[in-house]
Amino acid sequence: MNDDQLLRYSRHILLPEIGVEGQQRLLDAHALIIGAGGLGSPAALYLASAGVGRLTVCDGDNVDLTNLQRQIVHRVESIGARKVDSARATLATINPEVEVAAIAERVDGERLAALVAAADVVLDCSDNFATRHAINRACVRQRKPLVSGAGVRFDGQVAVFDLRDPASACYECLFSETAETEDTRCAVMGVFAPLTGIIGTVQAAEALKLLAQVGTSLNGRLLLLDALNMEWRAMKLQRDPQCAACAAR
Ligand SMILES: [Zn+2]
Repeated sequence: MNDDQLLRYSRHILLPEIGVEGQQRLLDAHALIIGAGGLGSPAALYLASAGVGRLTVCDGDNVDLTNLQRQIVHRVESIGARKVDSARATLATINPEVEVAAIAERVDGERLAALVAAADVVLDCSDNFATRHAINRACVRQRKPLVSGAGVRFDGQVAVFDLRDPASACYECLFSETAETEDTRCAVMGVFAPLTGIIGTVQAAEALKLLAQVGTSLNGRLLLLDALNMEWRAMKLQRDPQCAACAAR
């Protein structure tokens, strides 16, 4: 680390749990963020400000006016632009040292598998079940830690599936793809502005802890937030031995 980096990251370096060693791990790390919306905005902002060396951000959408109520990485000037380009531009104003790869696609299949394989941690900041299950399957196959978040109305949830650990549950163990799942689209549902900020920030915190190798991760627990009453609940996650995604691994 050079002198500027020692200053920029001094408040991390002062933490005995992180120190120079942990900060260096962040600088050497590569995070994949899928979705540059309400969850991806705070997640990307904190991973960039905290100095995660490489970020790959995927999103196929463009910025529109309805996004700005909660998708805090975007600016008025970016309306009409691709979300990933808008996010990359904002991140560069905070920490130009971070290398940001912008992928303006809804990734799936082999493309997604290759992106997951290249990452040290995966943040699911997407807004639909098909993508969530595809990300989970790729993380199971590649044994990558998955930090999963969701939020609609006043209700949020966040979990870590550390799939490097063979005993860990996966997203599908919890939310089976074959079950009747109502895909609550943000396009038609209300979302309390800071809800996605809270959940996306917890995702950033868990990703940073995994990358810096500090603390105890949220692995094996699901946190549920009722922001209307500001109540958190924690649920222990059980691996499903019949799980369609991870039983055969
Ligand atoms: Zn599973």
